[in-house]
Amino acid sequence: MTFEPTLDFARQLDAQDPLRDFRNRFYIPPAPHGGDSIYLCGNSLGLQPRTARAAAEQEFTAWEQMAVEGHFNGDSPWMHYHETLADATARVVGARPLEVVVMNTLTVNLHLLLISFYRPTATRYKVLMEGGAFPSDQYALESQVKLHGFSPDEAIVELQPREGEYTLRTEDIEAKIRELGDSLATVIMGGINYYTGQVYDMAAITRAGHAVGATVGFDLAHAAGNIPLHLHDWDVDYACWCTYKYLNSGPGGTSGVFVHERFAYQPDLLRLAGWWGHDASERFKMRKGFRPMAGAAGWQLSNGQILPMAVHRAALDIVEAAGGMEALRRKSELLTGYLEFLIQRLELPASVLEIITPADPAARGCQLSLLVHQNGRRVFDELSEAGVVADWREPNVIRLAPVPLYNSFQDVYRAAELLTKAFLVKADDLKN
Ligand SMILES: *Cc1c(COP(=O)(O)O)cnc(C)c1O
Repeated sequence: MTFEPTLDFARQLDAQDPLRDFRNRFYIPPAPHGGDSIYLCGNSLGLQPRTARAAAEQEFTAWEQMAVEGHFNGDSPWMHYHETLADATARVVGARPLEVVVMNTLTVNLHLLLISFYRPTATRYKVLMEGGAFPSDQYALESQVKLHGFSPDEAIVELQPREGEYTLRTEDIEAKIRELGDSLATVIMGGINYYTGQVYDMAAITRAGHAVGATVGFDLAHAAGNIPLHLHDWDVDYACWCTYKYLNSGPGGTSGVFVHERFAYQPDLLRLAGWWGHDASERFKMRKGFRPMAGAAGWQLSNGQILPMAVHRAALDIVEAAGGMEALRRKSELLTGYLEFLIQRLELPASVLEIITPADPAARGCQLSLLVHQNGRRVFDELSEAGVVADWREPNVIRLAPVPLYNSFQDVYRAAELLTKAFLVKADDLKN
């Protein structure tokens, strides 16, 4: 599509957008000086679905009216609540329902999965991850290697971009995996890097990892609900994600877990166990001896967090109603492409502004990360003051994430206009 840098054109794109009405299913927070904000921060916390409160309310009512009986009675008995999320969750990440479960929170799940899929030996103990991974993932891995008696400096290998580049090349990731060979125990990377917005080639990385006998897992915090995923077909071993970013399921919301089907019927696969992972038909017999359920459900520990799961279910319903990830992705590519086009039209020199997110749509999701070399924080503050909710990452990156479910092409147009204004003012400042 040939874009045009006019408000009329943005309006036209909105008029043609089959998902334009989905915006009305969310609460858009107000801007500081009135009107709706331009919310480009769904990479940090997705907006509240208008159906979320009623979904939670329903469970409050069930609790009020049935109390303990709610586990077994009512529209959606709590004992089986997590099962009601499996189909929609599986569609979001390209899995079979058996391969997914919703439970806990993200970092907790990362640890639970590493207990099973990072099983180091004296010679095969290394972990490969992207340099500058999200801090929680770094800390999780540090503590996991220590748990097994290794030193993080020795056991954790971090991938770095080539000199003068900001993102990783797949061939370099594959080469590092080959180089580590049979010292490599597991690869654990983001599906999308939170800082640069780069999508990693999960199929290629999984193939390379398996070729040297390592397990391969992904933290999909920035990928789930953002891009279509095919975890089963890509043969990924394990993955987890949060639901409060692109899946709009509320602050501190629950998390999803994927364990490939080939591990579904391996009860002896080591895991940290709890009663909710135990064979459901025997769970209440309170017998000794853990017998896990088949599939990802066998990694559950505790009885389900009904209130966060109720909100998550309401949010997943919206993804389904929109036609699923492929439909969201079609709009997302246009929306982010339009933002990129408008920013490029600023024609700022690379010494002032660079987009460090890959230009290839296949190598990015909806987020663009702007590396602002001069006055970044002031540009960001000015955007905030004007009602653009973006996010700032030290030392000098502004992340803008137009989300296809609730952002419009006019949002993107107005955000770019305000960005232009902020930069022009800054350029004048520099002259004075
Ligand atoms: C958002 C995010 C987290 C947050 O972890 P929580 O356990 O949900 O607090 C962790 N890792 C990555 C890659 C993230 O993007």
